[in-house]
Amino acid sequence: MLNEIIDLDKKYYMNTFGNRTPVVFNKGEGIKLYDTEGKVYYDFLAGIAVNALGHSNKDFIDALKAQLEKPLHTSSLYYIENQARLAEKLVSISCADKVFFANSGAEANEGAFKLIKSYFYKKGMTQKTEIITLTNSFHGRTLATVAATGQPKYQKPYKPLLPGFVHVPMNDWSALEKALSEKTAAITLELIQGESGIYPVEKEYIGKIRDLCTKNDIILMVDEVQTGIGRTGKMFAYENFDIEPDVFTLAKALGGGIPIGAVCAKDFLAAAFEPGDHGTTFGGNPFATGAALAVLDIIEKDKLVENAKNTGDYFKAELNKLKEKHTLIKDVRGIGLMIGLEIDESVAKEVFGKLFENGFLASLCGGKTLRFVPALIVTKQDIDLLVKVLDKILNEIKK
Ligand SMILES: *Cc1c(COP(=O)(O)O)cnc(C)c1O
Repeated sequence: MLNEIIDLDKKYYMNTFGNRTPVVFNKGEGIKLYDTEGKVYYDFLAGIAVNALGHSNKDFIDALKAQLEKPLHTSSLYYIENQARLAEKLVSISCADKVFFANSGAEANEGAFKLIKSYFYKKGMTQKTEIITLTNSFHGRTLATVAATGQPKYQKPYKPLLPGFVHVPMNDWSALEKALSEKTAAITLELIQGESGIYPVEKEYIGKIRDLCTKNDIILMVDEVQTGIGRTGKMFAYENFDIEPDVFTLAKALGGGIPIGAVCAKDFLAAAFEPGDHGTTFGGNPFATGAALAVLDIIEKDKLVENAKNTGDYFKAELNKLKEKHTLIKDVRGIGLMIGLEIDESVAKEVFGKLFENGFLASLCGGKTLRFVPALIVTKQDIDLLVKVLDKILNEIKK
């Protein structure tokens, strides 16, 4: 079975993902995944911060089943109950006043970039054409988001890149000041860089950016695609930094595995979208928005944001204890259940491989950092198991 699937993939699927980890999962249960051989894995990756509720959550399945009995899709020519209710819900729990739904993180970011452009166009400030983003950021794989992403490895084959994006290193105030000009329309950033290895911004830096944007008619856009929906122990990561963005984007965990993205903006900015300025066929359809409503309901009912905070703090403390014992651990970073464990570069790949062999899923970011972004239902017992295995693996390598 496994070999057959790998052969089919190699023959028929475009080779964008190279040699994937040779495993197929066909059953899930909370934090656990089972492969086609029946081997169990503890899933500390959650489909890259997507499966906030874990696998096969009973309440989620019931909600999805109920939605399947109703029209899955009706088009944006008509009003959609779930879409309106989800927009209301997101506004009620965030700093945003208005919402627009897309199908993915990249598409939500595209929507936000278009909103920013539209805002300055309508103010007659057409000189504002530049968006400043950070080095080592990740904002998606479409042509605009690849230009926004501050990592040359994602950009190489796609020159000339879409113009209008300028990159500066994170937490470097003077570099940011130098990049500012009368062309600056927006500053876009992740509050914790995910793909490049779990790097949080400094609170002082983002606070200064907030002030700068307010004083100079610059839009502050936060990409919460990975950090949003409880991941950091708050519903949205910006709550950890005592700032409010003018616009933020969501995707990954919002649909609990059903694809959906969202652009969430303050009124003054949202008003820049007028009829005809933006659109989508699938975005915000009854099924996807029904799924997201269920995700938010279950997160609230099961107190999963609180769980993310408690287990996240515990997780980080346990990893810091492990760091005391093992010089191969270079750093522990992150907030809530978005944690990076930086390992000595010479053995990081080996540790990552051994974790998988021992039945623990994570991802390796930036070549040396293990990224742990488990479902928000993870328990301290699950974390203990992972930490014990990490301890064992590091002891074996050290000997
Ligand atoms: C994953 C991610 C994206 C891209 O989302 P897609 O759904 O893959 O398009 C954008 N920004 C951040 C911060 C992400 O982590």
